[in-house]
Amino acid sequence: MSRVLYWFRQDLRLRDNRCFIRACDQADTLLPVYVLDSAMEQPTRWGFDRVGAHRRAVLGQALRGLDRQLRQRGSGLCLLQGQPVDQLLAMVRQGAIDTVWVEDIAAPQERALVDALKQSLEPLGVPVYTGWQSSLIAPNDLPFAIDRLPDTFTPFRKRVEQAAVCIENPYPAPDAVPPWPESVPYPTASIDAQCDALCGASTRPAVDARSAFPFDDPDCSVDEIGAQRHLDQYLARGLPHTYKATRNQLIGKDYSSKWSPFLALGVLSARQVDAARQHFEQARGANEGTYWLRFELLWRDYFRFLHLKYGRRLYHARGLAPDRSAPTHDADRFERWKNADTGHAFIDAAMVEFSRTGYLSNRMRQVVASYLIHDMGCDWRAGAAWFESQLVDYDVYSNQGNWLYLAGFGTDPRGSRRFNPDKQAQDYDPDGAYRALWLSGTAAVPA
Ligand SMILES: Cc1cc2nc3c(=O)[nH]c(=O)nc-3n(C[C@H](O)[C@H](O)[C@H](O)COP(=O)(O)OP(=O)(O)OC[C@H]3O[C@@H](n4cnc5c(N)ncnc54)[C@H](O)[C@@H]3O)c2cc1C
Repeated sequence: MSRVLYWFRQDLRLRDNRCFIRACDQADTLLPVYVLDSAMEQPTRWGFDRVGAHRRAVLGQALRGLDRQLRQRGSGLCLLQGQPVDQLLAMVRQGAIDTVWVEDIAAPQERALVDALKQSLEPLGVPVYTGWQSSLIAPNDLPFAIDRLPDTFTPFRKRVEQAAVCIENPYPAPDAVPPWPESVPYPTASIDAQCDALCGASTRPAVDARSAFPFDDPDCSVDEIGAQRHLDQYLARGLPHTYKATRNQLIGKDYSSKWSPFLALGVLSARQVDAARQHFEQARGANEGTYWLRFELLWRDYFRFLHLKYGRRLYHARGLAPDRSAPTHDADRFERWKNADTGHAFIDAAMVEFSRTGYLSNRMRQVVASYLIHDMGCDWRAGAAWFESQLVDYDVYSNQGNWLYLAGFGTDPRGSRRFNPDKQAQDYDPDGAYRALWLSGTAAVPA
């Protein structure tokens, strides 16, 4: 009789969730658990909430969706709140659990939690198994060992493309999920009410109608069903074909794929997305747009593999460039940036969009991050923490990697990467429509 606890983290799906499928295969009873970490309630060292309202809202959607998927298969999500190791230890005892499974996340805080859990469960003889599953390419399938990962993206991409690395097909969801252990009372009601309370549904502002990712639309709902709907409509409308041409636009739902919130919460896997993209190419033809979507997914993988190679070093103030001088910081200027009060209309428009929606285009993420670091002289880690708090697609690897790269403490040999905000406004918002949308409703702002 095998009693397994599965700890869901950034993999809130049943389809193509290899760790979960392995746990199901091995289990006679299985307790699927998510822990709302009490650290979420602590302010960051920079003085703001660790997890803001938009992020809480999409987390709530993803958890509800996961509970529904589990209930359809005879199970349900056990939603806990508190310090994860304490909570999991209590459930292991209550459920007489003999094995724990969890997805591996190669970031320092996430790894530290798993290490602490292993230490707590070791005296009880309960092993904690981890599995890597969040990249498109499995690390073992790379044409080099991870410690030989090229330090810049282009050689990485070329080696991967030349090697024509094979990507496994996504796995289907299990038809049935083993029942909860008898000693843990199975909740008859769904977790919706619990989720609403924990994720602050009553205090959440309505989704802004101008949002490029309105997550209250059915095809933007961040759960497994919403993810599939979103992917299907994106492909059915032929949008991959125009992606390369539109990806630097700033307004609307369709200029880029908006896959990131689904990937970040793990309601969709990178393999599922890429399999659908390949199927689209076979059915409707490949072009530079369909290629470029794969190119961007490789950036996502690259930041994951950099974490596997460098780990904690990516979190140091000077990152991978210890010889450079440490970043400076100015708390007042940081507040002005955060509150859309820099006096630069292009930057302020983006910071309004960001605080109202929890989403920003890749272009504007680069522009505002560069402005904070290179024009306002602030610490990139404060900016990264603000993004972490707000982004509906917060992903520890992509966020840390992009901020480090823009600050010039990453692996980019060109050093610091400043974007000239005036030129960016001229190039990407020549008629002022973006600034008008976010600063003054509709009136055009002169470029
Ligand atoms: C300072 C900064 C912070 C960022 N923080 C995050 C984050 O926390 N989470 C996150 O998912 N992305 C982050 N990005 C990367 C990128 O901005 C978003 O992935 C992208 O804007 C999401 O929109 P999309 O899904 O429409 O992307 P698309 O342009 O349609 O791209 C398709 C997919 O490719 C991947 N991708 C695209 N660009 C990048 C990139 N530069 N780095 C890594 N992956 C990429 C994403 O998974 C994305 O969903 C950050 C970028 C910057 C400059």
